[in-house]
Amino acid sequence: MRIRLFTLALFLFSMLQRPVSAGPAWHETKGKHFIVYAQEGGSFSNSVLRKAEEHYQSITRYFGNLPKSDFWSWDNRCKIYIYRSRAEYVSQTGQPEWSGGFADVNSRSIVSFQNAPDFFDSILPHEMAHLVFREFVQLNNREVPRWLDEGFAIAQETNVRTALDETVRKAVARNETLSIGRLNAMSTLHQQPTESARLFYAQAQSITRFLIEGRDGSYFLNFCRLLRDGVEFEDALRRSYRRDFGSIDDLEKSWRRHVKRH
Ligand SMILES: [Zn+2]
Repeated sequence: MRIRLFTLALFLFSMLQRPVSAGPAWHETKGKHFIVYAQEGGSFSNSVLRKAEEHYQSITRYFGNLPKSDFWSWDNRCKIYIYRSRAEYVSQTGQPEWSGGFADVNSRSIVSFQNAPDFFDSILPHEMAHLVFREFVQLNNREVPRWLDEGFAIAQETNVRTALDETVRKAVARNETLSIGRLNAMSTLHQQPTESARLFYAQAQSITRFLIEGRDGSYFLNFCRLLRDGVEFEDALRRSYRRDFGSIDDLEKSWRRHVKRH
């Protein structure tokens, strides 16, 4: 679920979602990897479809060995439900007022509403990234920390990057960052003060991008494969980034140096 960063709420990992109800009459628009269900069909649905395919190409490129022939094709297509209004979305899904959208891995679907702020550039890529990432590393994989899942999703939202990187830069300069050990332990943001929650998001995307971009993509892919295969987090890190860092502490030091340099 994506939360607007300035209204950071405490419900990040809450499990509020209900399956999409059969209530409204949906117009169905089918594409290669997606089926869009909207209460208004036509050009809006086509725009959603076009944008979704663009994000799909950019997100799946990190995972080289997806079974290309049937991943999200035909009967496995991802469903995108767009309610007519926020009010309808809230009442039908049980989501809180501030929610702009959510993804449900079990039904491989993304749910939002028409005119949701930043739908095309934030909500859609963010929720899609959660689905792709969780499917790749296997749902409920205990070796995958929340910050990595969230960091990968936020990293797909290019429009929030500058602000979050600024938060990180300041925190590093003041020596106020959350340690990676602490991030690993934060499986929920319930009870976290807003500042820690913001820092959690900001660092999550920064460290994840450091892991993705610091080397060619094969390192990150290998890291994710090892996690998927049940290798413990630090071991997976060591085995995939051997030349760069041999421990969580090393990763943290390298990342901090990287932030200071940029
Ligand atoms: Zn998220």
